[in-house]
Amino acid sequence: MQSQKTAAKDKIDMTESAKNDEKKSVKKKKKRTNPNPIVVYKRWCKACAICIQLCPQDVFKSDRDGYPVVVQPFECTQCGICWVHCPDFAIVSTEK
Ligand code: SF4
Ligand code: SF4
Repeated sequence: MQSQKTAAKDKIDMTESAKNDEKKSVKKKKKRTNPNPIVVYKRWCKACAICIQLCPQDVFKSDRDGYPVVVQPFECTQCGICWVHCPDFAIVSTEK
């Protein structure tokens, strides 16, 4: 009898823990809604493609002249890798 109670308690504990994990993962996947998280100033950009290659989220694609175009704005995590590495300071965040 005692062991049945313990097993039931363990099951409840596991359910609670699963719920907490679910809440955490929902928190992590917060939806991004800014359609323009960063701006690329084409006047300053020399189309070196560093930002395109370094972005971990594949936010950029290059246009036919090699200039970066923001194609997946909702994937941007504001990690800062692109604007920190841009040699011409051509990228600016609209959120920071
Ligand atoms: S890193 Fe800067 S200069 Fe190079 S392509 Fe990107 S925005 Fe242009
Ligand atoms: S801030 Fe990070 S995720 Fe956003 S475009 Fe730049 S490198 Fe990509």
